[in-house]
Amino acid sequence: MFVDSHCHINFEGLADRLPQVLENMREQSVTHALCVSVDLETLPSVLDIASRYENVYASVGVHPDHEDVQEPSVADLVELAKHPKVVAIGETGLDYFRLGERTIDDMEWQRERFRVHIRAAHATGKPLIVHTRAASEDTLRIMEEERAGEPGGVMHCFTEPWAIAERAIAQNFFISLSGIVTF
Ligand SMILES: [Zn+2]
Ligand SMILES: [Zn+2]
Repeated sequence: MFVDSHCHINFEGLADRLPQVLENMREQSVTHALCVSVDLETLPSVLDIASRYENVYASVGVHPDHEDVQEPSVADLVELAKHPKVVAIGETGLDYFRLGERTIDDMEWQRERFRVHIRAAHATGKPLIVHTRAASEDTLRIMEEERAGEPGGVMHCFTEPWAIAERAIAQNFFISLSGIVTF
């Protein structure tokens, strides 16, 4: 038995052949999957799949890379997390990889959004799905300041050095390694 703890099967290219995707899962002994939310605009498609398939679960959150989307409040996330299939808050975190013309100072909106998600995780008691890219110091600092270790959660697609992993593990987080660690 395997659990896919991070998939986006509501995305184009997967959603349009979902029965086949779920059949492939079964053949590979993947018994459960967590379909991870990236913004509130597409959350209904995540919840729809989770509602239709008993072994698919959902999270609620807005990805740090998603700009010009609806900005969630703590209350919004808490309300949406009441859906019976929602088991986590995220994906959230920080991503400074695509700064473009901007500086890290300009990314306060991302840090604020991350804090909102951590507060929602506290309020719901649900674990966090944390995305961090080129931003590990700020990610860990905010996790420490907001006591993210109390809900705990997972650092997904982790590609940081061991010292960073140790600090996340010390805060009650799991580390997830995916294919991108080989890039
Ligand atoms: Zn993801
Ligand atoms: Zn991610």
